[in-house]
Amino acid sequence: MRGVEALKDDARDLPWKILGDIAAYPSSEVEGKDAVFLLARKGKEKLLVVRSRSEGTLASFQGETLRQKDGFLKLCPLSHANAVALRKALPELGPKLVGLRTSVGLGDRLGLATPGHIRAVRGTGVFPVLAQQSVREMSRTGRTPEQVLDDATWGALQEGWTEGFGADADHLKTLKDIDSCVRAGFVMYTLDPSEYVDDSAGSCDVGTLVTKYEALPWDRLESRPEDMRRMYCGRSFQAGPFVWVLSEETFLRAAVKYGRAIAHTVEMYRHLSDKVEEYELEISVDETSSPTTPEEHIFVASELTRLEVRWTSLAPRFVGEFQKGVDYIGDLDEFREQFRRHMAVARKFGPYKLSIHSGSDKFSIYPVAAEESEGLVHLKTAGTSYLEALRAVFELSPELFRDIVALALEHYPQDRANYHVTADPSRVPDPKTASYEALKGLLDDFHGRQILHVTYGSVLERFGERLKEVLEDGEEVYYGMLEAHLGRHIIPFSAEGGGA
Ligand SMILES: [Zn+2]
Repeated sequence: MRGVEALKDDARDLPWKILGDIAAYPSSEVEGKDAVFLLARKGKEKLLVVRSRSEGTLASFQGETLRQKDGFLKLCPLSHANAVALRKALPELGPKLVGLRTSVGLGDRLGLATPGHIRAVRGTGVFPVLAQQSVREMSRTGRTPEQVLDDATWGALQEGWTEGFGADADHLKTLKDIDSCVRAGFVMYTLDPSEYVDDSAGSCDVGTLVTKYEALPWDRLESRPEDMRRMYCGRSFQAGPFVWVLSEETFLRAAVKYGRAIAHTVEMYRHLSDKVEEYELEISVDETSSPTTPEEHIFVASELTRLEVRWTSLAPRFVGEFQKGVDYIGDLDEFREQFRRHMAVARKFGPYKLSIHSGSDKFSIYPVAAEESEGLVHLKTAGTSYLEALRAVFELSPELFRDIVALALEHYPQDRANYHVTADPSRVPDPKTASYEALKGLLDDFHGRQILHVTYGSVLERFGERLKEVLEDGEEVYYGMLEAHLGRHIIPFSAEGGGA
């Protein structure tokens, strides 16, 4: 375990890294054109340190300038303005397009996980999206899009990570959601039209279906009921080894289920295109109750293509259950068969990547997805890094962990709304009297994990300050846990783990 004291010991051989009680993180040195950048720690506070021969180079950073024998040293707070200046000086510390590379989204609700995430991804060849947060998460954690991006930048500097990272403005539902993330400089946008998906389309009677079909927003779909019918009904679609013939009923159910969602996606896409020049798009319809069939996927991809939307990845709602914080629940063979078909559709209409949402802890499907996608895949995780933070808290401050469990149990009935979880709180021992072993066990228990997973907003509201303090003091413990746990997610997708 390397604490700040150990860093100081290491750095003793490199005296320029030390100034009084300021210790640089050993991996953090990154060289720019006329300056060297380091992340350092002074007591509990982190600092950006910039060294340069010329004082002018330092002018774009805010902080305290010190004259040294061979140049200047500037000690800068980790402010948004300094993060912007740093990204300008070192573009590799700013977000990049991910493209079709195999990638993993590493959401970080606390803004402290990036160094651990980088250690998990280093050497795997899987491209990390280090800044990733949904608008729902930002409102629950009280973070801004700027903070999310800045924390990724600081974490990348701390680890000296110059291989690039993505920034995903996740689950955007409205035009307003888009604007706030555009201002911050995100480059990947995940549009989520799930609220417009009509889940009743799969089961309603044919009469209702036809009425609903006629009532679709035809203006916005830039089509007419007869024209769209002609495009799909009775037509066969081939993708890879698969052929689908869409019957009238299959077509109508697909159109009613996704028609409004397509219109909303097009509206958000055009709004986004007006605002940003270089960006990439993910489309997610994963948060619906019924799985997306390959035929529905064909309909969505074909309609979005007709309406000139371009995207890099798409998240269908896969078969089985993707509950928060726990492994896949469902038939693995069926998952493989369906994934293979969705992949064929993605190759035909793209190629684009299939994105696996709620991807944390779905260990049983990773080898399948890696194999079937041949690397054309994005795995999205978020909550699991928060659970690892709680695991670190248990090690560092078990009493705080006990309080967190108690609060989580109290808030679970309200906080579980909008999340796909089925945990039963009565299966969790009373935190007031539970032994430490029993408390620790909650982090590996189905019920415990889900309850802790969805109550982060309430927990952060009450214990956020204290929790961050504990994690900052014991950051190496947290990084170690992230490296091990996220590593298990990423390795199956790396070339060595069997992925492409
Ligand atoms: Zn999702």
